[in-house]
Amino acid sequence: MAATLFCLDFPGVGPPEGWAWASDKPPVLSMHGSKQNHVRGTTASLAPVTVRNVRATTSPEKIRLVLDLDRHATVIEQRAVNASQVVIALPDAWLSQTAQGRTLDGTIPSPFMVTQITPHAVAVSLPRTSFQSYRQFLLSDPPRLVIDVTLPIEQGLSSAGVLQEAPKRVVPMAPQPITPRTKGYTTIVIDPGHGGKDPGARGLHKTEEKDITLRVGLQLRKLLSKHPGIRVLMTRDRDVFVELEERTKFANSNEADLFVSIHVNSHPSRTVKGIEIYHFGEAKDQRALEVAARENGTPLSNTGVGWEYLVADLLTSKKIEESLELAWNAKAAMVSQMNSHYEIDDHGVKTAPFYVLRFTSMPSILAEIAYISNPSEEELLHKPVFVQDVAQSLYQGIVAFLATGKSEIR
Ligand SMILES: [Zn+2]
Repeated sequence: MAATLFCLDFPGVGPPEGWAWASDKPPVLSMHGSKQNHVRGTTASLAPVTVRNVRATTSPEKIRLVLDLDRHATVIEQRAVNASQVVIALPDAWLSQTAQGRTLDGTIPSPFMVTQITPHAVAVSLPRTSFQSYRQFLLSDPPRLVIDVTLPIEQGLSSAGVLQEAPKRVVPMAPQPITPRTKGYTTIVIDPGHGGKDPGARGLHKTEEKDITLRVGLQLRKLLSKHPGIRVLMTRDRDVFVELEERTKFANSNEADLFVSIHVNSHPSRTVKGIEIYHFGEAKDQRALEVAARENGTPLSNTGVGWEYLVADLLTSKKIEESLELAWNAKAAMVSQMNSHYEIDDHGVKTAPFYVLRFTSMPSILAEIAYISNPSEEELLHKPVFVQDVAQSLYQGIVAFLATGKSEIR
């Protein structure tokens, strides 16, 4: 992600000062004497980041605060041991009128506060007595800062949605690590695309997608199996046909934590080559829609998935956000790893209504590892070292995602 995260003391963070802007236009930012220009890791910019909106979702155990931003931002986190609150600040940022309204209309559950602490900085403050643990992370597309707060066990929300009085007990001074899953391991389902009677895409020299996806999948299994705490399952480990529905049921019934589908792309133009990683969502362009329709085995006019039920049905915002995070980790690892050996065209992270991404209930991605229709990539796909490199880079992307601690989906 294009975000920087580091911890330091953030002097000057105090009670809200009631900043209010007369319009949704950002205030003029003086570049001279602005403290934020001296903060390590920030970039001087004439236009501050706009916090477009502030949202909160609450449950008895958790509160999620989301700050919608107009672009990527830098986050500064204050976690001084003796401080009475944790402060997560966005330097060089301002609250839009809409966001300002949210901070006053009860959207933000007390005692948490989102404030314009200086003309150039927005801060979210979390009093230490009000949470058991928290985590914050930046997401893109659209850019936003997410803060998940786990409430103290005795506390929780009253029926009125307002926090009850903090319990009179010793509250840990430092944020607690996220509670590990009770089952004690992470289940990853690898899904090599196609198989058996379904060859998938074909290359000029008769290479079949189903063979490549299986080879990459088996290599990836080998790598992940060596990683402590990871259980690896495959939707197929030989050349057999498996319905898409069976693949998703398999992942769901095994309570998988991650689902990684492997495919090889194809394009009418033989010059098109490179990698792209998908997570579930509406196709943003015709090409993404065509790829999803082909992989789903459905006509272009109907991908058979019904993405319009995205919000109301199976997909939780957690799945969406973590799929996005996994996709970016996988893409970054693939591009950085592969580019040292090959000339890889990076088509980025995309969304499209793939069946296997739609009907799996855990974070899931679909990697199109190369173009079988491109003669030079078709040749590469036959090389064991290329297959190994693809598997290795996917492995590193998955491990990087797990290391962020954002995979406690179950
Ligand atoms: Zn495919």
